[in-house]
Amino acid sequence: MGQDKSAAQEIIRQVDILAGRIGAVNKSIFDKPETCYQEAFACGLLRKELAAEGFSVKAPVAGLDTAFVAVHKGSGKGPTVALLAEYDALPGIGHACGHSLIAATAFGAATAIRRAAPRHPGTLMVIGTPAEEGGGGKVKMIAKGAFKGVDAAIMIHPSNKTRVIARMFAVTELTFTFTGKAAHAAAFPYKGVNALDAGVLFYNAVSALRQQLKEEARVHGIFTHGGDAPNIIPERVVMHFYVRALDRGYFRRVIEQVTQCAQGAAAAAGCKVKIEQRGHTYEPFYPNRAMGRMFLEHMGAVGIKDDGFAEAEEIGSSDIGNLSQELPTLHPEYAAGGKEDINHSRAFLKAVMSKKAAQNALAMTKAMALTVHSLLTEPELMARVKREFAETR
Ligand SMILES: [Zn+2]
Repeated sequence: MGQDKSAAQEIIRQVDILAGRIGAVNKSIFDKPETCYQEAFACGLLRKELAAEGFSVKAPVAGLDTAFVAVHKGSGKGPTVALLAEYDALPGIGHACGHSLIAATAFGAATAIRRAAPRHPGTLMVIGTPAEEGGGGKVKMIAKGAFKGVDAAIMIHPSNKTRVIARMFAVTELTFTFTGKAAHAAAFPYKGVNALDAGVLFYNAVSALRQQLKEEARVHGIFTHGGDAPNIIPERVVMHFYVRALDRGYFRRVIEQVTQCAQGAAAAAGCKVKIEQRGHTYEPFYPNRAMGRMFLEHMGAVGIKDDGFAEAEEIGSSDIGNLSQELPTLHPEYAAGGKEDINHSRAFLKAVMSKKAAQNALAMTKAMALTVHSLLTEPELMARVKREFAETR
């Protein structure tokens, strides 16, 4: 059994009808950027818009004031499929990651399905997930069971390219505090223990380690405290690093190697080192390829092409990685501007409100809505999606 053609046509038509409102939601959120867990306006707007379209909306969720769940139950049994909405901005630069568009397209796709196929089987959900930029909103929501019962989840993200199937790095944040002993740097240097030496050795050890790392890992960091005055042997040095890798096992291995670098550097300088993990660890993102293939098929039908980038080319990390370890998840991206307009830049900030972004967002909203509708109405597709998920654990 394939997708009902007339329902698919009606979904596409509804997305076109909703174009103005999708644009308005994007602009409203874009104009009022709110960072990590402060997204009261964006969350309120989405709740209001979805409630007006017949969704029953619940908030707060998982103890988070700016998280929400909007539910539409169709007729009869079937799977639960969730569209995810992010809406947090970056500090200082605003919506330079385009999360305003993520919110708008999730609203648009869910509304189009609700209007075009109100008697779909199963349950259609929009889940508002705050604080992707460092706050780990999805990680907290997973821990509190907010995704329990969800069979598959999808979210589209603006980018510098259009690509449906991509992987993302796992990432963890570590701080290294080297402690030595202060002393007068001219009169009694031999009485001091130089923590800055340990820090510099650590930095260089990591630089040497990079040559031995697989292509699929990243280690990068900074000094956040390098001493107090040139005439004091530095007694405390603090460094802040990110470690990333594509594969869970290799990720652990690289963390171990970086830890050894720090311990070795501390020993060489006669210091102590304290290693602390900060914030949340984002797991690697595993795209569900069965969902991806269906999405690509629908993209063809609405006239937008995948740019053909490799799965691990130009990738970052996201808390959606953690969700992809829990249930089948897809995170297609689409070009908002040109290839050089990269996320988190001033150029991307401009691209988010461009005509090209609006056009591509609309086409991708159609592809997403059609994919979600397929997941709700085609049991063989959902079975393939679930089988793949089970096999890749
Ligand atoms: Zn983002």
